[in-house]
Amino acid sequence: MRTIRLLAPSRLEMRETDERPAITDSTVRVDIKACGICGSDLALYNGRRDLSGEHYFGHEFSGVITEVGNGANGLKKGMRVASELVKGCGRCWFCRNGMQNYCKSLNDALLPGGFTEQTLVTNTDAYSFLSPIPDELDDITASILEPANCAYHVAMKANIQPGDSVLVIGLGAIGLVAAMILKTMGAGTVIGADRSKLRLEQVRKTGLLDVIDTSEPAWMEQVKEMTAKDGVDIVIEATGAPPVLKDAMAAARTGGKIVVPSVYFGGIDGFEPLPIMRKELTIIGSKGPAPQLKTDGTSAVVEKVVQMKDDLRKLISVYEYKDALQAFADARSGAAIKAVIQFS
Ligand SMILES: [Zn+2]
Ligand SMILES: [Zn+2]
Repeated sequence: MRTIRLLAPSRLEMRETDERPAITDSTVRVDIKACGICGSDLALYNGRRDLSGEHYFGHEFSGVITEVGNGANGLKKGMRVASELVKGCGRCWFCRNGMQNYCKSLNDALLPGGFTEQTLVTNTDAYSFLSPIPDELDDITASILEPANCAYHVAMKANIQPGDSVLVIGLGAIGLVAAMILKTMGAGTVIGADRSKLRLEQVRKTGLLDVIDTSEPAWMEQVKEMTAKDGVDIVIEATGAPPVLKDAMAAARTGGKIVVPSVYFGGIDGFEPLPIMRKELTIIGSKGPAPQLKTDGTSAVVEKVVQMKDDLRKLISVYEYKDALQAFADARSGAAIKAVIQFS
């Protein structure tokens, strides 16, 4: 079966392999149809994250279940599924305190992950990382379920009130999808901001969001004009660049909220935290995917992805497996907002 492996930073290998991990009682086997490249994959690829402790590669996938261990969670052979965290153990300290996103590491749940034609996925009564997907979602769009789950988590952390203004700084997939979800949840003015001309142009073309160029000196005034208060109700800081947190604090209104899904590397020179007190800012972290289930036990994120599928599809660039290296190159350069590699 075909596999893409990261041997070292910037060193991808594509090859055929016979290694096929044996199914166990606590796993299901998924034939991968499509797998997206995440910012965290790029951090490994770019050498900003240490590769040595990683057991899997690729976690934003859709596919078909071909083998089932114990059949927990109603997952059956032949079912179309996509990755997202849907279930933690419910018993550990994190689960009992509303932080199921910390229950178990993906390192222990995926073998070898979505950049291989087949992967095992842990699936027990205590953990699930797969949601069944409905017929109206194609495999490519379904592969965005996991980042959409992360973005949904951001939106939930924002605890939006009707009409709240939102500024999303950093128009990667998480920032963009969070902006789109917040719109559906009743946000008022929603502004996207980025300093990359390429990204701004791409987002303008989709028509999904009004955008502002943060490389322009007057961008902050522009934001304040558009939101008609002393700042924005909710700022999503999704750039991954630590100094931008200062901009987020400046753009937030008195009493405003800042949600941070950014994976930061490094610190901020000359950081002045005074506005946290002066403006009574609330700064909220948002980490990874988390179960977002409706009362009937099905995924609210799947429903949201179905609702937004045509818009979400605009964010995706599809690459055949043979062009996987190009997919990584385009994800790295920003030429693709969400690069998705198609296996079949
Ligand atoms: Zn991801
Ligand atoms: Zn748990």
